[in-house]
Amino acid sequence: MSSSASPRPFVYDGDRLVCSGVDVAALADEFGTPLYVYSADAVRERVAMIANGFAGVDHTICYAVKANSALGLLKRLGALGCGFDIVSGGELERVRRAAPEAVSRVVFSGVGKQAWEMDAALEAGILQFNVESEAELELLAERAQALGKTARVALRVNPDVFAETHPYISTGMSEHKFGIAIARARQVYARAAQLEGIEPTGVSVHIGSQIRSVEPFAAALQRVRELVEELRKDGINLRNVDAGGGFGIEYGTAAFDPAASVQQYAKALRSVLEGFDAHLLLEPGRFIIAQAGALVTRVLYTKQNGAKRFVIADAAMNDLIRPALYKAHHEIVPVLLDASRPASKADIVGPVCESGDFFAQDRETAELRSGDLVALLDAGAYGMSLASHYNTRVHPAEVLIEDGKTVLIRRRETLDDLFVAELY
Ligand SMILES: *Cc1c(COP(=O)(O)O)cnc(C)c1O
Repeated sequence: MSSSASPRPFVYDGDRLVCSGVDVAALADEFGTPLYVYSADAVRERVAMIANGFAGVDHTICYAVKANSALGLLKRLGALGCGFDIVSGGELERVRRAAPEAVSRVVFSGVGKQAWEMDAALEAGILQFNVESEAELELLAERAQALGKTARVALRVNPDVFAETHPYISTGMSEHKFGIAIARARQVYARAAQLEGIEPTGVSVHIGSQIRSVEPFAAALQRVRELVEELRKDGINLRNVDAGGGFGIEYGTAAFDPAASVQQYAKALRSVLEGFDAHLLLEPGRFIIAQAGALVTRVLYTKQNGAKRFVIADAAMNDLIRPALYKAHHEIVPVLLDASRPASKADIVGPVCESGDFFAQDRETAELRSGDLVALLDAGAYGMSLASHYNTRVHPAEVLIEDGKTVLIRRRETLDDLFVAELY
């Protein structure tokens, strides 16, 4: 199978949708719906594409756990040699359980780290804290001193670079809450270098998510390089240059060659880093897992309200919130092709009591009928990790297809699971 054929592991075998060779309808029958289906093979391929792009560059891929934090996924990424970018003590605990050997490759990002989270990360011995404010730096120094540890620190700088993406996932401009203004960074590094318990080891930048052009990444990294060079003159020697995540994918039907596009991304970063001695950290999330996954759902009902046709699925915004939150587009494809079906336009919606609970509006597909299975493609990233229990709905099950075998990595929740923390 060549990577140019499809950027997704979900393809048709005759009239049946398969995921890395495994029949999707059979999975739905066995595990029920809604069901998240992922291909471990596709994940492995994406990691290899990145590693290829940066071959010869001293680098570590720190997968961004928030994109999809399934333990079964983290375990496999850890085994591939990946590190992790975490944003909470909860995510640290996930890495500790699923990939304990990778804890030394963890970077800890986030604007609101709490003392207990710092303590846990200091005890675990993570690679680096990506510090986002001076106040955080002071608290981290205090915690490190209290525990007799040293916190390796990068400042997350805000490079004030514009990256074209959805406003909710753009982070690299001065109006955003993220990072420390790059103009102030030298001053803050000088303070960090004085603080007991703090060892400045790197600098980090992350300009946003689902960014499709490589120029903003290169522009941000160029500013970071200049900063590191200045700091080295000041006698502060930083080794880790963390370029962040955010590299995007194609959610629609336009041609997309992930291997070629990651090569372009790598080329742009490599040209900025030429002649520069540093350890590059990368924090991809979406690029690795989005297209490896789909949300499989069954049509419950269809109905006509005036001029509009509605297809009501058993999955909802609580399972996959991207369309409701960002008006994000997901391709929606039938699990079984039926050439006799006429084309039909409909809103594909879930059962949740919100008008925002839609997966697509006025979408043309082969007519969908009650009982049909459909797959929402590219749902591997920011799907399950953003799922909620809204409307007292249980989380879907998750299965991973690996070397032709099906592995259940999360059973469907029961209602009892939902009530365990409640008192009455
Ligand atoms: C969300 C996030 C990432 C991952 O972003 P993707 O778009 O999924 O690649 C990486 N680093 C940081 C700091 C983030 O907040």
